[in-house]
Amino acid sequence: MSNKKFDFIVIGGGHQGLAVGAYLAKAGERTLILERRNEMGGGLSTEEVTLPGFYHNLHSNFHGMIPLMPQYNDLELEKVGVRYYHPEANLGMPLKDGRCLVWYVDEIKTYESIAKFSKKDADAYADFKSKVTAHTDAMLRYIYSPPTKESIEDTHKVLVSLLGEEVFKISAYDWVKSYFENPHVQALALFHMSIAGYDITQKGLAHPGIGYLAFATNWQLCRGGSHFLAHAVGGVFVRHGGDLVENSPVKEIILEGNRAVGVKTQDGKSYFAEKAVISAIDLEQTLVNFLPQNAVGKELCEKIKKLEHGRGDSLFGIHLALKEAPRYTAAKYNPDINQTFNLNIGYETPEDVAEHMDESNRRELPKHPRLNVSVNTLFDPTQAPKGFHTGLMWQFAPFEIGDKSPEYWNEIKHDFAQKCIAVWREYAPNMTEDNILAVYPYTPLDTAQKMVNMRRGGFHTLSLTPEQFDDKRPLPELSGFRTPIEGLYLAGSAMHCHGGIVGSPSYNALQVIGKDFGILDKLPIGNKFWEKKA
Ligand SMILES: Cc1cc2nc3c(=O)[nH]c(=O)nc-3n(C[C@H](O)[C@H](O)[C@H](O)COP(=O)(O)OP(=O)(O)OC[C@H]3O[C@@H](n4cnc5c(N)ncnc54)[C@H](O)[C@@H]3O)c2cc1C
Repeated sequence: MSNKKFDFIVIGGGHQGLAVGAYLAKAGERTLILERRNEMGGGLSTEEVTLPGFYHNLHSNFHGMIPLMPQYNDLELEKVGVRYYHPEANLGMPLKDGRCLVWYVDEIKTYESIAKFSKKDADAYADFKSKVTAHTDAMLRYIYSPPTKESIEDTHKVLVSLLGEEVFKISAYDWVKSYFENPHVQALALFHMSIAGYDITQKGLAHPGIGYLAFATNWQLCRGGSHFLAHAVGGVFVRHGGDLVENSPVKEIILEGNRAVGVKTQDGKSYFAEKAVISAIDLEQTLVNFLPQNAVGKELCEKIKKLEHGRGDSLFGIHLALKEAPRYTAAKYNPDINQTFNLNIGYETPEDVAEHMDESNRRELPKHPRLNVSVNTLFDPTQAPKGFHTGLMWQFAPFEIGDKSPEYWNEIKHDFAQKCIAVWREYAPNMTEDNILAVYPYTPLDTAQKMVNMRRGGFHTLSLTPEQFDDKRPLPELSGFRTPIEGLYLAGSAMHCHGGIVGSPSYNALQVIGKDFGILDKLPIGNKFWEKKA
């Protein structure tokens, strides 16, 4: 048992847990974070998995909410060395016919690039961007406030006024097909929406994709690797007096009556919190496994066990150590493709995107691998030995293939990785065996084993489906961040609005916790989104 007294205990040291802890510690609250693994950060991990000196972001790589996520300024992350690269050629796709489409940070360049494919689509995209970005505040308020009927209705009103009532009935796929005319423009828009981690063919879920499209060229890369962000947030936490204990999987939440008063870890230690226990991990561990049987009610436990994981958010990754960066055939058409950060290779038409989603939903390996590619060292040469490069390829893939067990991935991952490399080579002929020094496949099973809260390899911790979205996320009765157990709160990515390095679940949980304990004004929250009206 630890003799030290804490006000708050946070379970899980991923970015959500670290961020909650950092705000509380900055407000002078005695806070403990317990992390299962031997290092903090969760999905902010950067490791030398191929060869010494080559650093690979095994999970999050593309950070699309920097610097908009409130933690960035509230925790003064630049003061502790956080820097992001925001590559000018931000999002793009080479095509088999030798052309390419590139979207830039500079909107005029994007317009010109799209106009080469369709002037109508260039106009439509520019019109969309200007309309939607005029409502950035409303979008941020929606993302960074607990979901209430009012906040959801406000956002819906904005989208309906811009895009019509239909937008809440159709899928992202249907919306893109009706909004743009050129298949390649459609494919790039859908690619961008899909990497937000949801099935773009699901009806009733066009609006999150449309929201993401508003930030289509905001993909950014953390200098030194994604893990640097975890170090920085964790550093703020510790410097303000927080206690971080790694290698400490929580196995039990200690109750006094119906109140959470502490936790037990697998090594037998107990820690006590005078105010609250905050879980920044998945629901099943928290409310089913850590509590006495059915403490939150049998019905709720059953509902939690039935929640959907890994739909549209489980990935097969391949990490490469390279002698030289890829040179695309399409560079003859536009040399910027060689310097584009976030690349779609293989979704040439919207049908390609839909086919890939269907295959994944049917638990099939993609017949034609379709890749999300990046070469981070083009922007941050410190991530490989001087003159060398790293390569990253991801694609959606099911946790289980057919009726095989998830372990089947271990049998096929190397062969499948070679098939994926062959696809990259079709577009960039110098991706030869000679150029590739080492290959490290990373399967949905690897994700689930390393990040136990990403059940079934699902990177949102809980899939984004119409039934698990808005004020229904994770379940209507839990969407308020409180639980049936007094003093036990939820702040992980299963909460509104979802996972990804977006930071909203923990930020939203803090607003509830801050109010419940009368400390909201002490928390270093700069932008009080919830106070602003539409
Ligand atoms: C392959 C892959 C690629 C991705 N790419 C991107 C991307 O490019 N951009 C993006 O924004 N997002 C990306 N993501 C998603 C992103 O990484 C996650 O959504 C995000 O990390 C979730 O943050 P979190 O803090 O909620 O959970 P996590 O990052 O999973 O952190 C939870 C922490 O809790 C710990 N924990 C679990 N159980 C216990 C326990 N019992 N006791 C104590 N600690 C425990 C875990 O070890 C972990 O450190 C990707 C994810 C994957 C898997």
